[in-house]
Amino acid sequence: MESPILNFINGQLQAAASGQWLVSHAPATGEAYVQLPDSDERDVEQAVVAAHAAFPAWNALGREGRSDRLMKLAALIERDLEKFVAAESRDNGKPLSLARRVDIPRAISNFRFFATGILHFASESHMMDDVAVNYTDRQPFGVAGCISPWNLPLYLFTWKIAPALAAGNCVVAKPSEVTPMTAYMLSALCNEAGLPPGVLNIVHGLGPKVGSAIVSHPRIPAISFTGGTKTGAEIARVAAPMFKKLSLELGGKNPVLVFADCDFEDMLKTTVRSSFTNQGQICLCGSRILIERSLYPRFRDAFVARVKALRVGDPNDAATDVGAVVSEPHMEKVLAYIAGAKKDGGTVLCGGERVKLAGALANGWYIAPTVIEGLDNNCSAIQEEIFGPVVTLQPFDDEADALRLANSTPYGLASVIWTNDLKRAHRVARELKAGIIWINCWMVRDLRTPFGGVKQSGVGREGGWEALRFFTEAKNVCVRL
Ligand code: NAD
Repeated sequence: MESPILNFINGQLQAAASGQWLVSHAPATGEAYVQLPDSDERDVEQAVVAAHAAFPAWNALGREGRSDRLMKLAALIERDLEKFVAAESRDNGKPLSLARRVDIPRAISNFRFFATGILHFASESHMMDDVAVNYTDRQPFGVAGCISPWNLPLYLFTWKIAPALAAGNCVVAKPSEVTPMTAYMLSALCNEAGLPPGVLNIVHGLGPKVGSAIVSHPRIPAISFTGGTKTGAEIARVAAPMFKKLSLELGGKNPVLVFADCDFEDMLKTTVRSSFTNQGQICLCGSRILIERSLYPRFRDAFVARVKALRVGDPNDAATDVGAVVSEPHMEKVLAYIAGAKKDGGTVLCGGERVKLAGALANGWYIAPTVIEGLDNNCSAIQEEIFGPVVTLQPFDDEADALRLANSTPYGLASVIWTNDLKRAHRVARELKAGIIWINCWMVRDLRTPFGGVKQSGVGREGGWEALRFFTEAKNVCVRL
């Protein structure tokens, strides 16, 4: 095993107070390859104390001082880009090429975006004719709690930390215990970037121990969480009676609406990506493909042919399209959904099983990209989040039918519309119950836009000014003229 991952508290790398360790696996081979601290509320307490002590000086550095440190941190990740890319792929099972194209560059962009954004962040003022002027004073609240999942490890971790720090808060953060490596590597760069001790604290360990100690800590007034809906509900249950600020980015079951008049080739290419990028483990992946009935046979045949051509393989191989799913329990969960779909009368058009690769990869957790049709809209494979390389196909008759199916799950994160009818595109976009709509594209991301979901996909929005508003408290000051 490699030398262990350590917590980063008050500028120091250290083991957990318990002296206990957890083990992290490499999904490509199934091997246990590194230990991480099995931390608990004692480590969180230390981190909170350090963060509070660091807060006045960090805030006093001002926007430019903080921006400068965060830009340095971005530059250091960029300097070590290839190391981060290799580590992310190894820890998560995703293709190396994807980590290089998406995950690590986006983590760098997250820091640069908020480090520069804070320089331009202005607040409102409201004139009351000649009576008074109100201005909104937005101040950081002190210490933010940030908790992130395993699917885009450094990308989502930094998406929270960067705005929290830029706004002037100190942070106690917990990456997923399933993919802790790149957050650890980030912590090892903080001192070099000139981040004062205690500004960013990273505590590794289990959700019910470390995560819940962060959520329930009385001196952490705001929690930014990305993860599953069930966990989000538990966090809200604990944090709401404490009147904490909460941002919850949760699960999805995103529909892709394919109208017969779409640009077929463009749609097909993008829909293969929106289904199977990162092994389908992106909260924004389209997992329910709804196709206008007249196009259905053509779509199904062409789509299945493309999906069969995807290469499941070694994440290190440049030719690999689909790597390993993140863990053995997750693989079992995804396979159980496929088995359930068959029982419910679904037809598996391709995939549907574990893929056993040769040699060192023989025990890796690979699933063939799977396409299922013929399911009733109420069955669990259509209503519940699978979060793996599995999509379902359903025909629809007209726009109203498409909307009925699209809006029929408890989730509402993202939706994709494929049509060349401009009026219909806007009309359908307005009617879809989701926080993010893509028309004739997918995963095109402008970091200034509001990001988040409705219904069981979450509460609140991240991104752009929304994030900087979340990580500050607004105070209205009214001055008599
Ligand atoms: P998860 O909810 O199991 O874990 C997320 C994080 O929460 C982990 O760090 C975990 O340790 C921690 N945690 C677990 N229990 C906790 C508790 N009781 N208190 C505090 N923290 C706790 O989710 P996951 O399996 O890591 O990630 C997959 C899920 O994340 C999927 O549902 C996916 O849709 C969702 N997700 C959503 C978005 C979005 O932006 N909406 C983005 C990515 C992933």
